[in-house]
Amino acid sequence: MHVGFLGLGAIGAPMAAHLARRGRLTVWNRTASRATEFAARHGAEAVATPREAAAADVVITCLSTSADVASLLDGPDGLLAGLRPGALLLDCTSGDPATSRRIAARLAEGRIAFADAPVSGGTNGAEAGTLTVMVGAEPAVFERARPVLEAFSRRVEHVGPIGAGDALKAVNNAFLALNILALGEGLVALAKVGVAPRVALDVINASSGRSFVSEVLVPERVLTGSWPRAFRLALLDKDVAIAAGLLAQAGVAGPLVERVSSLLGQARATLGEAADYLDPIRLSEQRAGVELRG
Ligand code: NDP
Repeated sequence: MHVGFLGLGAIGAPMAAHLARRGRLTVWNRTASRATEFAARHGAEAVATPREAAAADVVITCLSTSADVASLLDGPDGLLAGLRPGALLLDCTSGDPATSRRIAARLAEGRIAFADAPVSGGTNGAEAGTLTVMVGAEPAVFERARPVLEAFSRRVEHVGPIGAGDALKAVNNAFLALNILALGEGLVALAKVGVAPRVALDVINASSGRSFVSEVLVPERVLTGSWPRAFRLALLDKDVAIAAGLLAQAGVAGPLVERVSSLLGQARATLGEAADYLDPIRLSEQRAGVELRG
């Protein structure tokens, strides 16, 4: 099977590397040097336009936002000019359901199948091939997508119709963001009253307040000061804004998610577009004059 992959960012590149090991892979990236370097390293073919990358059996996009994916559809060098009837486009972007449904409708006019297939597990999970993929698609499309997605995943789940994968991913990341902000505030407060962060985490992680953030992210990254810039805060902010929008559309009161979205937006404005998703913890430290590390 010939796969086309567009978007060799922090998570896209290690996902694509698994596909390169399995068969024929064509890659495209907006910053062309990333594609040529990837192709040389992994034995793929780098092309200059989305149209050329789309001339494959299965095409995968992994860009920042759904709007970015939609922006690649049209024009003489766009995806629609390259996708063939019967092809399948899998969007691994953490996207927004409404845009995914619009993209799916455009593709359906040309008999091209679509699934939203956002991933979770971070860049480490992408490198290890252990991501979780949450797929929104027609059942038959999901069955076509599954073997391709398994190249970089441990778990591939069909979670509902088109847009459902995006919705679930956005809500998942709202939980992640909530935990990051809560740990930042709580550990700083505990440090101020004399509970060392390491002690606090050891106890929390043997108690009912534990989470992936308390068990893995804070001990391995914040407390050690080894802070890989693997997932941009701007992307997490985008995810939580999608979750807040979903709650509003569903008519569900979401004061907590709205507040998390607003706090992340403020942190993004303060820290900038290149900031890491754990950097809001630094803001909590700075405000309190406390350092959790060490
Ligand atoms: P990066 O910022 O590292 O990379 C973004 C990619 O999208 C780059 O290839 C970039 O191209 C491309 N891109 C952005 N805008 C456009 C555009 N308008 N047209 C064409 N290409 C564009 O992001 P990640 O790889 O970290 O994230 C990609 C997606 O995966 C996001 O939706 C993110 O939320 C999600 N995700 C990320 C995780 C992570 O740990 N990093 C974990 C789970 C999901 P260029 O190189 O030219 O900038």
